[in-house]
Amino acid sequence: MTTLGAANVDSVLEAIQQVVGPSSKEHPISLHEPDFTGTQAWAYVKECLDSGWVSTAGSWVSRFEEELCTFTGASHAVVVSNGTVALRLALHLVGVGYSDEVLLPPLSFVATANAVAHLGAFPHFVDVAPNALGMCPISLAARLETIAERREDILVNRETGRRIAAVLPVHVFGHPAEVDQLLAVSDSWGLPLVEDAAEALASWRGSTHCGLFGAVGTLSFNGNKLITTGGGGALLTNDADLAKRARHLSTTAKQPHPWAFDHDAIGWNDRLPNLNAALGVAQLEDLDRRLDAKRQLAQRYADAFADLEGVELVAEPTDCISNHWLVSLRFTAEDPRAVQAERLQLLERAHSVGLLLRPIWTPLHQLPIYEACPAGSLVVSENLAPRLVNLPSSPQLLDGCAA
Ligand SMILES: *Cc1c(COP(=O)(O)O)cnc(C)c1O
Repeated sequence: MTTLGAANVDSVLEAIQQVVGPSSKEHPISLHEPDFTGTQAWAYVKECLDSGWVSTAGSWVSRFEEELCTFTGASHAVVVSNGTVALRLALHLVGVGYSDEVLLPPLSFVATANAVAHLGAFPHFVDVAPNALGMCPISLAARLETIAERREDILVNRETGRRIAAVLPVHVFGHPAEVDQLLAVSDSWGLPLVEDAAEALASWRGSTHCGLFGAVGTLSFNGNKLITTGGGGALLTNDADLAKRARHLSTTAKQPHPWAFDHDAIGWNDRLPNLNAALGVAQLEDLDRRLDAKRQLAQRYADAFADLEGVELVAEPTDCISNHWLVSLRFTAEDPRAVQAERLQLLERAHSVGLLLRPIWTPLHQLPIYEACPAGSLVVSENLAPRLVNLPSSPQLLDGCAA
């Protein structure tokens, strides 16, 4: 395999510029930017302000939930204040608690591991699949085979003595992970599957929306996601009882009553405010147009990179529909040190002209906060991480492109 020379770093930069148009330090282009043009956002937010319904109750909250169900096919959606608390609540609802372990991939945003840690539980890292970005079903099965032991009713990590409580795959950059196979493995061990679908609204494996394979899945509506509510998140589930408990625990576990304050559990104040939900409805109404623009943008990148050596785009997995949230470039040279140097060169050159490319996250097991966590072999993740860099992917960039 070839290594990129300096001239090739130039060609990569030119290919990106050909797709996204001009940028400069004064007018930079970020990875993914919010956009409300052409939507009803102003009118809907004004309605909240005029009516005084700005907080955690109001009609936009239930309307946003209903429309999320309609779009994804979920029986239930519960909207909350961000994707991190959505995950923490989802994990709590499937029984993850203090001192448990949750199996998750190291290639994710830090929030995936943080949500586990917020419950007093421990991330336990399992490798990702070669040529895919999501957790590897074979590595998951092998890891459980190595460390898991059934003691009476609970599954224990025989190396740490702690209970193994859940499996938490991530749909990275909007590309569906192999959740059908991951579910088969987790089911065979009696483990609940929770999907971090924060980046995967409008991504499907077969005809099933991401987040609906396991017990519960979560979305994020942070400012850089496919659609945004400013800050926000959701739980998706087909389990009526789980949805009911999610709604209850996200609103301080208060028992319904016209005036009395009685709480039957230690709940959270996680509910999404009406103001944010109004933005969510306006963004959902614009979703098909955004998806179409993102698909076209991804195609333009594919065309621009078709003839370049030493780099390739991360492809939509087979039998899946990806939302193409972030377009990712992979450096293909064999030597990881060489690719790291090439990637650094590209990042420096791009940032100097206001093209704000970002490398994939530092693998979570390499962060000091999580380096002592249990882990299987992570060779695939460690080989992949230095190779990936994300390209500007906002749907509104399409308008700036030369056709
Ligand atoms: C964005 C994101 C989250 C967290 O969502 P917030 O709304 O920012 O709290 C969790 N996991 C992944 C993979 C994400 O990309």
